[in-house]
Amino acid sequence: MNACSASAWALDGPVLLTCAVAVGVLLLARWVKRQRYFPGRESFVLMHLGSIWWMVAAALEMAAQDPGCKVFWASMAWPGILAVPTFWAVFLWQYVNSSSRPLPRRLTLGLSVTPVLFWLLALSNPWHGLFYAAGTAPLSAEAGAPIRYVHGPLFYAAAVYVYLFMLFSVASVVRAALTSQGVHRRHYLAFVLVTCVPWAANVSYVVFGWMLFGFDPTPFSFAFTLAAFAWLIVGVRLFDLLPVARHLLLDELPDPVLVVDSQLRVIEANPAALKLAGLRSGWQGRALVDWPVLGRDLQSLLEQHGQGEAEQSLTLTSAARYFEVRIRAIQREAHRGTLLLGQMLYLRDVTLRHLSELKLAEALAVSEERLRTISSLHEQLQEQALCDPLTGLYNRRYLDEFFSREVARAQREQVPIALALIDLDHFKQLNDEHGHLEGDDVLKGVAQHLLDNLRTSDAVFRIGGEEFLLILPGADAAEARARLQTICRSLAEQPLPTRGGARYVTLSAGLALWPYQGVELDRLLQIADSALYRAKDEGRNRICGLT
Ligand code: GH3
Ligand code: MG
Ligand code: MG
Repeated sequence: MNACSASAWALDGPVLLTCAVAVGVLLLARWVKRQRYFPGRESFVLMHLGSIWWMVAAALEMAAQDPGCKVFWASMAWPGILAVPTFWAVFLWQYVNSSSRPLPRRLTLGLSVTPVLFWLLALSNPWHGLFYAAGTAPLSAEAGAPIRYVHGPLFYAAAVYVYLFMLFSVASVVRAALTSQGVHRRHYLAFVLVTCVPWAANVSYVVFGWMLFGFDPTPFSFAFTLAAFAWLIVGVRLFDLLPVARHLLLDELPDPVLVVDSQLRVIEANPAALKLAGLRSGWQGRALVDWPVLGRDLQSLLEQHGQGEAEQSLTLTSAARYFEVRIRAIQREAHRGTLLLGQMLYLRDVTLRHLSELKLAEALAVSEERLRTISSLHEQLQEQALCDPLTGLYNRRYLDEFFSREVARAQREQVPIALALIDLDHFKQLNDEHGHLEGDDVLKGVAQHLLDNLRTSDAVFRIGGEEFLLILPGADAAEARARLQTICRSLAEQPLPTRGGARYVTLSAGLALWPYQGVELDRLLQIADSALYRAKDEGRNRICGLT
C-alpha cells in the first residue's frame, strides 16, 4: 500500500477499456438483479461482482506506475479471480436445472472461504513468496512497465482450483446442451462458448505466458463475455423469454406434471404435482407406485400403454377430482435408435368439466323420464278423450275412426258389417224409482254385459245417455239377429248389481247392415234408429230390422 501512495498513475487505453468493461458488467449485474424469473440469479450477480473486482484491480495494476504498487493490486485481484469461476459454476448448475430457489447463505459463505484465503495468502506474499516467487520484476526499466511474474506453488494451487470449477461448468452445460433441443440447446451452447473464451485466455497466460498489453488477458476477455451476454439478452431474449417460459410451463402450471425415468421413478415434479401429493421434499427418486396420490393408477397406466403417447382419464375418488392424463415419452436419438430417457405425465384437472358432464347427463335422464311421463299421459288423455268415463266404453268420438277402418277391412275381406243401435227400456222410470246413482250402476252393468258378449273384432260404443251402438264386423243379418237376440234375452234375465240392490233392465235394438242398407255411417244409424223405434213400438225387449 505504501508503494501505491508513492506511485504515479497513468490512464492509458487498456486501463480505460478495462474500466468500461467493468461499468458494462456492473450494469448487466444490476439489470439481472431486477429479473424475477431467472434461475441462478444470485450466483450470476455474485460472479459478475467477482469479475468487476478483478477488472478494477487489474485496471489499478495497469494504471499504477510503481512496480510494488502493481504487485499489490495483482494480489488484490485474487478474491475476484477465484469468485468468478466459483459462482459461474454455481450459476450454470442452477440455470441448467432451472432452480429459482435463492442460494443458501451458508453455501455462499462456504464458497467464499477459499477466495478469501487465497487473497490473504497473496497479500502476505512479501513474507513467504509462495505466490509470486523471487524474480518477479518489471519487464523493462521504463516507468509503469508491466510486471513479469514468476509464479510460486500457491499460484498454481489457485489455478488448479479455478480450473476444477471451470471444468465443472463446462461439463454441466455441455451435458445440458446434449440432452436438450431447440432454443434450450442454443442457449447452453452459447454458455459453453462464454465459458470457454476467458478460460482459453487464462490457460494461455498461465501455461504459455501469453499476455495482452503486458497483462494477464483474462480480465480483457470479459469484454467478450459482456458482448456475448448482451447478444444473448437482446438478440435471443435469453433471460426474459427462456426462464419465464420455463417458469410458466412448469412452476406456475396449475396442472400437475411428473417426469419418471425408465425405471418409473419420479425424477421431476412441479409444485402443482407436489401439492396434490402433499409432498415437500425427499421425493426425488421415489418409485411412481409409491407416489402418495394416484401413484398406483399412474403406474398401471404406464404399464398398459407401453412407450407410445397416450391419453387417459383417471378418477381420484378420495378427493372427488378427475384428471385426464397425457403421457409423453422423453427420448434421445442414440446411435442405435432412440433411447427412452423417461416419460412425462401431464395431469389435467377436468373435475369441473366432468361434473358439468355428469350434471348434463343427469338433466338429460330427468328430461327423458319427463318425456316418457308426458307421452304416457298423452296416451292416457287420448284414451280418455275416446272413452266414456262412466262405463269405460268408447264414445262417439272414436266411432267415425273405428267405422271407416272396419269398412276398409271389410271391403278387402268382402264381408258385411252389422250395426245394432240399443236403447234401454223405461230407463227414465228406473231413474225416477231408484235415483240416478243406481241408474248409473245399471248403465255400468249393461256395459259390462255387452262387453262380455263381444268377440274380439267387435266394438261397443256409448253414444247417448242409455243408448249404445254395437258394431259386429263380419256378421251378416242372421248372425247379427241371433247374437242380439241372445244379448237381449240374457240381459233381461241378468240381475245387475247396484248400490241399492240388484236391478233388472231390458233393451230394445234396431239393426242395420253395411253395405246392403247403406255405406255411410249416418245412413246406417238412421236405418238402425227406425228399426229401434219399431222395437219400442212393438213392446220393447226385442230386436227389429234386417228381416
Ligand atoms: P224408452 O226408451 O223405453 O222409451 O223410455 P225411456 O225412459 O228410456 O226414455 P228415454 O230413452 O227417452 O229416456 C232416457 C232417460 O235416460 C232419460 C234420463 O233420465 C236417463 N239417462 C240419460 N243419461 C243418463 C245417465 O247418464 N245416467 C242416468 N242415471 N240416467 C240417464
Ligand atoms: Mg233413450
Ligand atoms: Mg230408453
